[in-house]
Amino acid sequence: MRIVSHPVLCNYYITYRCNATCSFCDIWERPSPYVTMENVRENLRDLKRLGVRVVDFTGGEPLLHRQLDELLREAKQLGLITTITTNALLYPKYAERLRGLVDMLHFSLDSPIAEEHDRSRGVKCFDKVMESIAVARGLGERPDILFTVFEHNVHQIRQLYDEICCPNDLVLILNPVFEYNEVEAGDKLSEKALQEMTWWGKQKNVYLNDAFIQLRRDGGNHVDDPVCRAASTTLVISPENKLVLPCYHLGTKDFPIENRLYDLYRSREVQELVALEGRLPGCEGCAINCYMQPSFAVELNKYWWKALPSTLKYNRIKGTWKQLF
Ligand code: SF4
Ligand code: SF4
Repeated sequence: MRIVSHPVLCNYYITYRCNATCSFCDIWERPSPYVTMENVRENLRDLKRLGVRVVDFTGGEPLLHRQLDELLREAKQLGLITTITTNALLYPKYAERLRGLVDMLHFSLDSPIAEEHDRSRGVKCFDKVMESIAVARGLGERPDILFTVFEHNVHQIRQLYDEICCPNDLVLILNPVFEYNEVEAGDKLSEKALQEMTWWGKQKNVYLNDAFIQLRRDGGNHVDDPVCRAASTTLVISPENKLVLPCYHLGTKDFPIENRLYDLYRSREVQELVALEGRLPGCEGCAINCYMQPSFAVELNKYWWKALPSTLKYNRIKGTWKQLF
């Protein structure tokens, strides 16, 4: 049973450019402009009218956008919840400007060992993450550590938790890796790794959406009975100011927005594509966290119940979702 019928999230790609070259990501290979302030202003207004509550200014590396603070301020003024995930290379430089503007600030970290993290990111950035943690805490910000869990690094959760998260009082977000397109994500997470993650998810200050684990056990999304609600929960906007459907990763079709996002999203041609969410050939087995998370939040099914404890836990620790009510 669907309990929320309007979109709740916008994945706003403010540029595809990135200053890292992660082995498990191909975004940085795409040529890309930066979004303009004017377009963002128009689109945020329409996102709000459509019922969207959370805007994720993403990329690429969002901190490469020189007006990120202004984009965030604009969103906050409309009462939207803001989130960014950064590789932290530029955070110390811009931290002061971003202060108080990001409700959910995530620093990506793939390993507690500097050389391993730097190798995974293709650039030296472990030290910048550490510096960013100190800078953010000094400014009264409460960043989270976003750890993408692979089969090969699941055993490192302990070290990351003990040496980096606990001493700095940071929430550790466990993000099980997902595959898409031709991007190599390594071996599939084994049952043992899934169990280990589940155990960690119950520990203090660790966030793991248990529905992600359940979905992997179920073989991901199935086209004949989809759990994916990507396009009806999440608007994807590209740096070229286009609405991308049904999700960024499949990106079957895009539509120039031209200052009419509200009408465009509700148009017949877009809604026909929305109806195909989770049902396209590329959707079989899909477990893309960014779209499954909102999908689990709007439909009362077993994934909703699985996701509930972690949502409440994060809410309790961070108080972020209080703003929703
Ligand atoms: S930092 Fe993020 S956007 Fe950049 S290459 Fe890595 S995963 Fe991709
Ligand atoms: S199942 Fe995956 S690929 Fe298909 S629309 Fe949903 S998020 Fe996109």
